[in-house]
Amino acid sequence: MEFILNKIKEYNKILIFGHVRPDGDCIGSQYGLARIIKETYPEKKVIVTGEVSDYVSFIGKPEMAKDEDFKGSLGICVDIANGDRVSDQRFKNCDYTIKIDHHINVDSFCDYEYVDDKSPACAQIITEFYEKFKDELKMTPKAAEALYVGILTDTGRFRFDSVKKDTFLAAGELVDSGISLGYIDNKLSVESLASLKLKGYCLTHFETTKEGFAYLKMPRNIIEEFGVTNEEAANQVSTISTIKECPVWALFIEYPGEIRIRLRSRGPIINKLAEKWGGGGHAKASGASLGSWDKLPLFLDDVNKLVQEYKNSNPED
Ligand code: AMP
Repeated sequence: MEFILNKIKEYNKILIFGHVRPDGDCIGSQYGLARIIKETYPEKKVIVTGEVSDYVSFIGKPEMAKDEDFKGSLGICVDIANGDRVSDQRFKNCDYTIKIDHHINVDSFCDYEYVDDKSPACAQIITEFYEKFKDELKMTPKAAEALYVGILTDTGRFRFDSVKKDTFLAAGELVDSGISLGYIDNKLSVESLASLKLKGYCLTHFETTKEGFAYLKMPRNIIEEFGVTNEEAANQVSTISTIKECPVWALFIEYPGEIRIRLRSRGPIINKLAEKWGGGGHAKASGASLGSWDKLPLFLDDVNKLVQEYKNSNPED
């Protein structure tokens, strides 16, 4: 962490990168880190670059950096496991690159990498970075809000096993910085009417297998018919997360030219299956690619096997 702090001190231009289709932890980590750096070193130019997430746009909306911003810059990639998932591939044009992440370290794509795969959120690592150099670094309520949202969203509101005492200590530090938990909860809880109507559709159209896998197909025509954003459609993965008989579930969502699998589990380890299908991720939250709709039966075979094996060895679950 000291090495990272020294690099931040060394550069006057710092770009902060996130991943494609960013989530709350990505945007929260980007803005949390950017605001701490800007508050501490106002003379530095700090740019948050990449894609916008409507869901957490109240934190901030990244804009794509200009080509000339890269010359002589430090690039920090947050919450990204694989180099090809950095939303702005020009990160390679930075003079020096650093990765700060909490996914299993499968891909080395920066000059220096700080990875803690035990941490439930990248925003927790950044909060710990702040705490370590608290005498020097300055927090602001907006930076704390961003980091808190990162921790909150990636821990399922502090509900996952990966949450430890350290997570609450980091969150406590942020709460002390003057954030409003009620405001954040309101922002994260509301959804558009179109999204709610889509949820109704999902609740009546999901499918299940006898082994215990629940899934939702989200082709383009449904996304268009309901008039929702891709992000709102993608969020429907949580609509089928509570089926007792189905410890593994997924949303198959069609983007132009790609069908993505958002795979989730409350039992079996699923990231190996995701890797087999061109993706990866965490033990119980992974992403992969279906290729085409006609591959669905093959995927169902694989996932059914996994669920059946899990149920055989965990009959009580
Ligand atoms: P998602 O369903 O897209 O939210 O993905 C769940 C988790 O899996 C996230 O932590 C992602 O970082 C990870 N993930 C998704 N897609 C990929 C991929 N193609 N390769 C590696 N990890 C992925």
